[in-house]
Amino acid sequence: MPRADEERQNPVALIVQKYGGSSLENAERIRRVAERIVETKKKGHDVVVVCSAMGDTTDEFLDLAAQVNPVPPAREMDMLLTAGERISNALVAMAIESLGAHAQSFTGSQAGVLTTERHGNARIVDVTPGRVQEALDEGKICLVAGFQGVNRETKDVTTLGRGGSDTTAVALAAALNADECEIYSDVDGVYTADPRIVHNARKLDTISFEEMLELAAVGSKILVLRSVEYARAFNVPMRVRSSYSTDPGTLVTGSMEDIPVEEAVLTGVATDKSEAKITVLGIPDTPGEAARIFRAVSDAEINIDMVLQNVSSLSDNKTDITFTCPRADASRAVEMLKKLCEVPRDENPTVPVSDTPADAAKASMQPGSGASESAATAQPRVLFDDHVGKVSLVGAGMKSHPGVTADFCEALRDAGVNIELISTSEIRISVLIRDSDLEKATRALHERFALGGDEEAVVYAGTGR
Ligand code: ASP
Ligand code: MG
Repeated sequence: MPRADEERQNPVALIVQKYGGSSLENAERIRRVAERIVETKKKGHDVVVVCSAMGDTTDEFLDLAAQVNPVPPAREMDMLLTAGERISNALVAMAIESLGAHAQSFTGSQAGVLTTERHGNARIVDVTPGRVQEALDEGKICLVAGFQGVNRETKDVTTLGRGGSDTTAVALAAALNADECEIYSDVDGVYTADPRIVHNARKLDTISFEEMLELAAVGSKILVLRSVEYARAFNVPMRVRSSYSTDPGTLVTGSMEDIPVEEAVLTGVATDKSEAKITVLGIPDTPGEAARIFRAVSDAEINIDMVLQNVSSLSDNKTDITFTCPRADASRAVEMLKKLCEVPRDENPTVPVSDTPADAAKASMQPGSGASESAATAQPRVLFDDHVGKVSLVGAGMKSHPGVTADFCEALRDAGVNIELISTSEIRISVLIRDSDLEKATRALHERFALGGDEEAVVYAGTGR
């Protein structure tokens, strides 16, 4: 069987490469990336490149916007943020030209990335990369600004949500029928745990789409969830690798259903600090109460994750419901639920909802900003806690191994970590714990399930911001 890198020597291959912000931190890195792109082209491949904004540009733009307007209009926010990717893509195109190859950069809109109109969190609805294809046919290397598109009706530019360049790359790869979509970042691939937390985390050679989806869904930051969903739907093989090394990285492909039972293993541990816990106390234990709460949360477009309803107390037949949601949405959820609790049961509450990306940006930039105290003291019925963290174990091997949950809980017990909530899927166990216990718990689980390797994992760059 040919090795993966030999296979990619096939002259007709079309490769999409995506470079993250930490691979493009400065002019020197941009030149390195350009060299890498030209090398791929010289091997005879057609190359389409998607670049994220340089370094922490997007965060810096968000900070800047908040300084001039605490609630920036969503449309203008997208005008601002999309500039980051235009800058990096144009610079990489220039660097490629300086190496004697021909390059042309495109905005998302020019590349035919069509999206819904929702600013700050648009979804790709179609990709019509006619101009990109033409430039490829002329022998050019194409650069497409990641994380952005255009809405056909409003004709305005949109952004795809944080980390959206991964999705741009996969969507282009699907539309252009590319052979592989390479995602370059500051680590060599997908690891059994965040190498910044677990030093002997091991790099995986391959991982199935389902397992990668679960990992991305529970906080692994290596790939954006939507990009993996897209890759799975269109069957685009993704390769996660580093722009700082020649390591072949991790290939994300195939279904876990095709893994023989005896080869199915536990894949990794993921950590997530981005959620908050909300508890609604004293809800009447009658049909319709949970529905009322979650409908309201859903109408506010807040994604919930873990849910728990307590056994109701015998004396007053009341119960408590706890759930987690993104920290950035938590204060909005609390405000809304407090209002909901005041409204008589048979009335349809009209709850004011603000949902500009600026709100989300603001909230996410002020983690733990005192919201918990005010929420808890002013309205005892709704409690809010943003000092929680989630740790999850993922792997297709779970299906055929009884006792994983018991081992999981024992590992946390031995590390002195208290479990607040548990949720599971066919191939995942997640628990909510104190955020201060997160690293300890991650190491304990990684150790207990013997996921580590013999080598130190390398983290080449990035602020992890
Ligand atoms: N620059 C955007 C962000 O930082 C998109 C991306 O990096 O993929 O979220
Ligand atoms: Mg970025």
